[in-house]
Amino acid sequence: MFITAQFDSGNIEVIEANKASSIQLAIRQDNQSDFYQWFHFKLYGEPGVEHVMHITNAGQSAYPDGWKDYSALASYDRENWFRVPTEYNGKELVIRHTPDQESVYYAYFTPYSYERHQDLIQWAQQSIECQHVLLGPTLDGRDMNLLVIGEPADHKAKIWVTARQHPGETMAEWFMEGFLSRLLDDEDAAARKLLENNVFYVVPNMNPDGSVRGHLRTNAVGVNLNREWAEPSLEKSPEVFYVLNAMQETGVDFYLDVHGDEALPYNFLAGCEGVPSYSERNHALGEKFKQVLLSITPEFQVEYGYEVDKPGEANLTVASNAVSERFNCLAFTLEMPFKDNANLPDADFGWSANRSQQFGADVVSAIYAIGNNLRD
Ligand SMILES: [Zn+2]
Repeated sequence: MFITAQFDSGNIEVIEANKASSIQLAIRQDNQSDFYQWFHFKLYGEPGVEHVMHITNAGQSAYPDGWKDYSALASYDRENWFRVPTEYNGKELVIRHTPDQESVYYAYFTPYSYERHQDLIQWAQQSIECQHVLLGPTLDGRDMNLLVIGEPADHKAKIWVTARQHPGETMAEWFMEGFLSRLLDDEDAAARKLLENNVFYVVPNMNPDGSVRGHLRTNAVGVNLNREWAEPSLEKSPEVFYVLNAMQETGVDFYLDVHGDEALPYNFLAGCEGVPSYSERNHALGEKFKQVLLSITPEFQVEYGYEVDKPGEANLTVASNAVSERFNCLAFTLEMPFKDNANLPDADFGWSANRSQQFGADVVSAIYAIGNNLRD
C-alpha cells in the first residue's frame, strides 16, 4: 500500500498505512497557520478489499461541523468524482471504501487544478469580449489574473466577481467556469445584452498559491485573505492589494465574492446589512436579485444562511463588506455547500462540480435581471 499527496493541491500526512483495515492519516495545517480541513491524496491499494482510512485530527480542524453528514469524494480518473461512505465520531473522520481499481484519489471536494485554472484563463482570453490583465505576482511567484469582459466605458456599470479567496473552496472556481462559459457565449442573448450596459471584472482564483499548496483557507504565508480588505499589503496579502487597487481605478457597482461553506448544506447569499453606508436602495436591489435567483433555480434558497449583521456591526476586513462600504454598492458573499443542497439531495454525488457550474451560469441570468438598475 502507498499513499501520496505530492501533487497539485495534495494534502495528507501518513501516520500509518500497513493494514487496509486501519489506515491512520492526518491533514496538514496551512503553511504558517492553524487552519486545516482540505485533504486530497492518492491511495495505491488492493482492488476488492475494504480500506478504512482514519483522518485522526478531523476533530480539531477549522470547521468540525463540516464533518457532520459529510461524505468524502473519490475518483479513479480524476474527472468523475463520487461520494463514498464516511462517518464522523466527533474526533476522527473515517472513510470506508472498497476500490475496484488499483489506485484511487480522495478529496474534500472535487479538486480544481492549477492546470485547469490556467486553461480557463487562456480559453477566456480568446474571446473578443475578454481582455486578460496581469495584476501582479503572488508570494510564490504565480500570476494573479483578472478578466475584463465587455468594452469598458464610463456609462457602464462595473460588476466585480472574485472567487476562491479560500483555496480549499474549489466549488467557487467550478462556479466561475459556469459563470464565464455563459458570459462569454456569443450566442447567449442575455449575456450579449448584459455587456451593452455592464463591464465584468472577474478574478476566477484569488489565491493560486494556497490552491497549489493544498491549503484550506490561507495564502503562501498563512494569511486569510478574506480578513485583509481593510489594509492589504504587498508583503502579506498582495492578492487583495492588487484587486482593491484595480477596483479603485474602475469603481464598483456590484460585487459578488464566491465561497464554499463547510457546515451549511445550502446555497445562500450573505449581504452587507451591517456596513455603515447600507442603504434602502442597495437593500431593495439585493432583494430583487435574491427573488430573481429563487425563481431561476431551486439550488438557491433564503431560509438558511449566516446571521444578518446588526446595523454598523459589519466586519470591514471582509471583502464584501469592505467593498460595499468603500464604493457604496450592492455586494454579497455567495456560499455553496461542501456537503449537498439539503433541499435537493443527491446521494451519489452531493453538491458537485457540475452543479456549481450550473449555478454560476444561473447567476448570470439573475444579474441580467438587475443589470440595468445597477447605476441610477
Ligand atoms: Zn470562504
